[in-house]
Amino acid sequence: MIKELLEKQQPIVYRALDNACKTNRISSAYLFTGPYGTPKYEAAVLLAQSILCEKKNGLACEECNTCRRVREGTYADLMILDGKDESISKEMIDGIQEKFSKTALEENGQRIYIIKNAENATISAQNSMLKFLEEPGSGVTAILTTDNVNRMLPTIISRCTVLPFMPRSAKDYFDDLIHEGVNQEDAYFMSHIVKDMADLKNMYDIEGQKNTVLFEHVCGMLKQFLNCEGMKRKELSVDWEVNWSSKAKDTNISKKENLLMLSSFYDLLMLYAHDVITENLDGPLWYQNVVKNSFEKKKMCCDILRIALEEKDACNRYNDLNLVLYQSLYQLGGINDTNK
Ligand SMILES: [Zn+2]
Repeated sequence: MIKELLEKQQPIVYRALDNACKTNRISSAYLFTGPYGTPKYEAAVLLAQSILCEKKNGLACEECNTCRRVREGTYADLMILDGKDESISKEMIDGIQEKFSKTALEENGQRIYIIKNAENATISAQNSMLKFLEEPGSGVTAILTTDNVNRMLPTIISRCTVLPFMPRSAKDYFDDLIHEGVNQEDAYFMSHIVKDMADLKNMYDIEGQKNTVLFEHVCGMLKQFLNCEGMKRKELSVDWEVNWSSKAKDTNISKKENLLMLSSFYDLLMLYAHDVITENLDGPLWYQNVVKNSFEKKKMCCDILRIALEEKDACNRYNDLNLVLYQSLYQLGGINDTNK
């Protein structure tokens, strides 16, 4: 149920929407903003359901036939665009406007459009959107969601009721993972790697196959970097080629796995550096001991933090991931020698 999820994760948004529904003061346009991984789209679906629900009483029941059709995307007077798949064009916005200028298809008469990742709209599409927001026609509600509000036209923002979604903490993800049955140690590291439950599941499930190997490799690389369990940091680049990197035969899959592994490795380096700098003792005991023993190396950890951040960015931009890893190990090796 989206209602429970929203109430738990985003209580302020939940109260605002619940209140608007109960008092029948639903705006004609909403903009849900907040970082990647927050349930903005889920909230948009819930709002659409709440407007159309057959058992109208505050927020949607989520169970009636209409609520179900909205959830499944088969409600005729609901249109959904997603800027993630392809950039939203002027023609797409004009298409909604044209469809909504005709008589409503459903008995209810209310028409709703949801634009997910609305920041990925061309300037001319944003201008069309603006015109549509200014003269929506009766019974039309717009719900826009964005991870990056800075890329939206200020004139669009000012036309909408803006509801900001709060970023979720690593602790929230940790609790979710424990709930999913992940063990404490894995959950600690995983909760610091990705910021979306769907991505977290990808760590364990790639291309439809259970793949715990990938996550184990990432943790293995961290242990090796930290010189744990007899593994040597200086052998990391060789071991990456031999042991850690993807063994998938399909080059697309191996590329995807290597990218996920390497960028997750940098996430864990950042976590380690952060835990040392802030003297935060958390996670499994072996890891806490390593962190504790590094308290006098805070300057080195500032450098690790900077390098990991740069290299994480680099692995998304460069094709040759081996080169990115060698480059970062070279840099990390340098700081290790120069300051203790
Ligand atoms: Zn309902």
